[in-house]
Amino acid sequence: MQAEDFKRLRANLQEKGVKLIAVSKMKTPVEILEVYNRQQRVFGENKVQDLVPKYEYLQKDIEWHMIGHLQKNKVKYIAPFVTMIQSVDSLGLLLEIDKRAVNANRTIDFLFQVYIAKEETKFGLSEKELTDLLGNPVFTQLKNVRACGLMGIGTLTDDEKTVRNEFRSLKKVFDTVKEKYFPADKNFKEISMGMSGDYEIAIEEGSTMVRLGTLIFGERLTHTFTRGEL
Ligand SMILES: *Cc1c(COP(=O)(O)O)cnc(C)c1O
Repeated sequence: MQAEDFKRLRANLQEKGVKLIAVSKMKTPVEILEVYNRQQRVFGENKVQDLVPKYEYLQKDIEWHMIGHLQKNKVKYIAPFVTMIQSVDSLGLLLEIDKRAVNANRTIDFLFQVYIAKEETKFGLSEKELTDLLGNPVFTQLKNVRACGLMGIGTLTDDEKTVRNEFRSLKKVFDTVKEKYFPADKNFKEISMGMSGDYEIAIEEGSTMVRLGTLIFGERLTHTFTRGEL
């Protein structure tokens, strides 16, 4: 994306109060720096093994969001620096994040990943699983994690109606859960939905955070950036 177009995109999102996560997965530090130099400070990665070296190598005022499936045994590597974990899909994972946040003397923001797509997505909670988790006394005792809202991934399809319905259902789950479990909690306010192909629909349906990769960085090649290449 050209600098002028990026500027326009950022201004447009800002005007709507929508936060932009630049999804830099499979992109090199040089490519990320180019976007950083256009004032972008929030980036998303989906693999711990890419996130850690990029954090180490790049500017420390970057806010890193973990947006991919997270295994419990890898939480310790990102707990010292990650700004938000958008992909919490079990109480067990949340317990581990809380434990590692305590060790790092931090509070870690997170979103519950809710399953909204018809097919594909293997990860995420159903609405029932989410409310069971929220009603579990163990959840209410966690001290170093902060629930900030929900994240969902729409079906990858050209059918606008399908995606719109999925986003609408996520917004509905958010409203229900907010009212029942977080009525007075100002932190619980985010609905992370919308990617390059569907972010405009997502915003119309109430998104507060869009995760854009391809639109900003161009198509992803199959090459993955690794620690050894630095
Ligand atoms: C890759 C990815 C994105 C960005 O996808 P684009 O279509 O390239 O914008 C957003 N969210 C998640 C969870 C991803 O894995």
